[in-house]
Amino acid sequence: MLLDEEIVRLVGMNKKALMLLGEPDRVIHFKLRRHLPPGYEVVHVYVVYHNAARGPPCKGGIRMSSHVTLEETIQLAEIMTYKSALMDLPFGGGKAAIVANSGLSPQAKEVLMGGFAHEIRYELISGNYVPAPDLGTSPREMAVIFGETHVRESVTGKPVGIGGLPGREEATGYGVSVIAERAAREFLDMEISDTTIGVQGFGNVGSWACTFLAEKGAKILAVTDRGGGTMHREGIDVEGLEKYAKEYGSVDGYGGEHLSNRELLGLDVDILIPAAIGGVITGENAGDVKAKLIIEGANAPTTREADEILAKKGVILVPDILANAGGVVASYDEWRKGKSGTRTKRVETYATIKETLLDVFEEVLNYSPKEKVSLRKAALALAATRLLDTMEGRGWI
Ligand code: NAD
Repeated sequence: MLLDEEIVRLVGMNKKALMLLGEPDRVIHFKLRRHLPPGYEVVHVYVVYHNAARGPPCKGGIRMSSHVTLEETIQLAEIMTYKSALMDLPFGGGKAAIVANSGLSPQAKEVLMGGFAHEIRYELISGNYVPAPDLGTSPREMAVIFGETHVRESVTGKPVGIGGLPGREEATGYGVSVIAERAAREFLDMEISDTTIGVQGFGNVGSWACTFLAEKGAKILAVTDRGGGTMHREGIDVEGLEKYAKEYGSVDGYGGEHLSNRELLGLDVDILIPAAIGGVITGENAGDVKAKLIIEGANAPTTREADEILAKKGVILVPDILANAGGVVASYDEWRKGKSGTRTKRVETYATIKETLLDVFEEVLNYSPKEKVSLRKAALALAATRLLDTMEGRGWI
């Protein structure tokens, strides 16, 4: 459970609320058996609704990974419950996982997504679950879902031509850059253009975060991904890196100096942005972190043990439910616009993300010293307070 005793006490949560938030509302587990990529006999799928107090829909991305487990899917759905509540969106927390290699070809993914969407079509069409991209999935896979449901608001993160939101693709990375800029000013007393940054992950979140941060003048010192990493002391040419990664499937080998994921986490930079997988900053390596500020682009990249070590070292950490919420904020716009049929411009998407994230940042910033808790606990406590209000309003507690 994400909430610890201190947060439970702070927000005055009763037993019934704790029980409701302590376990998922619903877990769907099924197997895809037909039309599978070569080498697969069966593919397991999990769809989790952690808490639907602010829904339906339950909102959360679809992860495609060979390593993803039911336990992790529940944890990710729980994160979505608090993220949507923190952003004050009318969404419950959900997540789906397809246990298959994230590096499959787009054609193989299309087949799997078709099977997935078909199996849970009633959940999708009824609006119980509204997916979006996550690790291993992209707008192309969201288009497959729309192809099954023919309902625009049944999925977000679609290509723009079928009702996707201009700016949704880069929304999470854009939000990460907005928060990094604001947090650098607040905690490092630095303009973002004077900072050095290390980024883990160069997929959707990592690459867009790099693009926007480089545009703001920050020096992207190093980037790593599943294949390894690259460091350029004079700063990485992000556009060049994108072309290279597209061609070679990894950032590894893009000139400069080679760098491992482990080395990246201990790199001497102002800001560290984990934007790949969960559980990478652990009790074992948190002591090596030299960055003064961590912005969690990924979901749950830092373990609880690491959190405590980092706090003792004085490292400031902006948590996932705030730092990477640009995606769900944009998804809310896409969902609403899918229902109404109205259109919007990219700049409006950016403006909405910026305004929403910065407003919540101020709330978290005020709460944290007042209650003498970390930014993570402050964000979770604020989200839990909103959830309690909603559950009370519905007569659930
Ligand atoms: P993606 O599939 O587009 O990219 C993932 C990146 O992580 C790739 O560069 C990959 O090489 C790298 N990676 C995978 N395994 C790794 C490993 N073991 N070590 C180092 N790097 C590794 O995924 P994404 O959509 O960018 O999501 C990244 C993270 O951000 C995830 O934790 C996801 O839950 C979170 N997130 C994504 C969104 C979104 O809108 N896509 C929104 C909020 C949070």
